[in-house]
Amino acid sequence: MLTVDEALAKVLLASVPLPPIRCELERTLGCCLAEDVHADRESPPFNKALVDGYAVCSSDWLATNTAVRLAVIEHVPAGRIPTKPVQPGLASFVMTGAPLPAGADAMVMREYAEPDGDHVILAPPRPPAPGTHWMPQGRELAEGAIVALAGSRIDAVRLGVFASVGASRPWIWPRPRVTILSTGDELVPHHLTPGPGQIRNSNSVLLEGLVRQAGADALVLETAADEASILAERLAQGLDPAHSNLFLVSGGVSAGTHDLVPGILEQLGVEPIFHKIRMKPGKPLFFGLKRTPGQSHPVLTFGLPGNPVSVLVGFLNFVLPCLHRLGGHPPAADPNPRAILTSSFSHRGDRPTYYPCRLEQEPTGVRRATPLAWAGSSDLITLSRADALVVFPAGDRDYAAGESLAIVKIPGRD
Ligand code: AMP
Ligand code: MG
Repeated sequence: MLTVDEALAKVLLASVPLPPIRCELERTLGCCLAEDVHADRESPPFNKALVDGYAVCSSDWLATNTAVRLAVIEHVPAGRIPTKPVQPGLASFVMTGAPLPAGADAMVMREYAEPDGDHVILAPPRPPAPGTHWMPQGRELAEGAIVALAGSRIDAVRLGVFASVGASRPWIWPRPRVTILSTGDELVPHHLTPGPGQIRNSNSVLLEGLVRQAGADALVLETAADEASILAERLAQGLDPAHSNLFLVSGGVSAGTHDLVPGILEQLGVEPIFHKIRMKPGKPLFFGLKRTPGQSHPVLTFGLPGNPVSVLVGFLNFVLPCLHRLGGHPPAADPNPRAILTSSFSHRGDRPTYYPCRLEQEPTGVRRATPLAWAGSSDLITLSRADALVVFPAGDRDYAAGESLAIVKIPGRD
């Protein structure tokens, strides 16, 4: 049986990044840049007033540090170009964001102004120094400066920055397209009341959320019963390279008589890469490749055992790194996170166990993990209070408080 690391190496070997595309800015949230983005012009593009007020010559205050009476020669709203230079004895009324008129070297806020016919009396608390309340052209950004490096993840702030520098169609790594299928006779949609022996399908929406949080697109297929012809039809849908880069199947991969998924996947042309991993929960995880002639990328196919925590562990250990690779994500800042146990813990088992825990971060940066009381692979409820999974290595051992162990963080719980 493969170890988690051996299996992950096989998944990553098969995970070839998708070719970059140009994309409308509005549709790039969560994607990674495939090029550096440069400023197409200086910012600000002109000397810019930072307040509503009067553009003046600071030299008018050389002889006095109190009120000065100036002739108002022009009104300049944002979006207009000043036409008259300001000289000593003159002022222009300039709005925030408008260009500073030539000759002016300071702005006095309108709060300190008393209009007086075609003049204004300006009485700021201190004489305005040159440079007050305006920003010189190019102060924020030089033309051609890099505003984001290739590999950066596009968040809301970057969307705003790219819009301001005219990067309307950046080169990005496309969002991987993921098809999700839950299988099982016992499943009903979550909006229905389960009958005797039935449970709600929680894995489809769990996987859909995990996929979307990872910046990928998700398509959820109608649940399939454990019946060969239905499974074959639905699995064939997910293996269609026109819709999927990745296909996630929940359930039907264990050793039960109704666990038909790996066999049917193989009949449909999926080359099995592995089935079963030394980990708990989630041991019977299947991974295979469906190649289609003329397609550069195979459909990467995961069969995840159906217990909800097995689904989560399988996703975090294998699917997430695969999605990151396909989507051009940069290497993780903290690739091998660890935490210190806050209490002793007795672990029994011949497989590494992924155990839900709370995390606290000390001011020193040290993380502390408290394992939660957990009922096993079907107990997703406890996971809603967890920040991470702490990994107890294979073997029976009593762990003391203060021991350091590897952890797997749950996305969105930082
Ligand atoms: P399986 O891997 O198909 O043997 O499923 C193992 C167990 O996981 C089932 O008995 C169900 O209790 C649970 N399970 C399977 N599929 C789902 C699902 N889509 N949503 C919630 N629980 C599921
Ligand atoms: Mg099943």
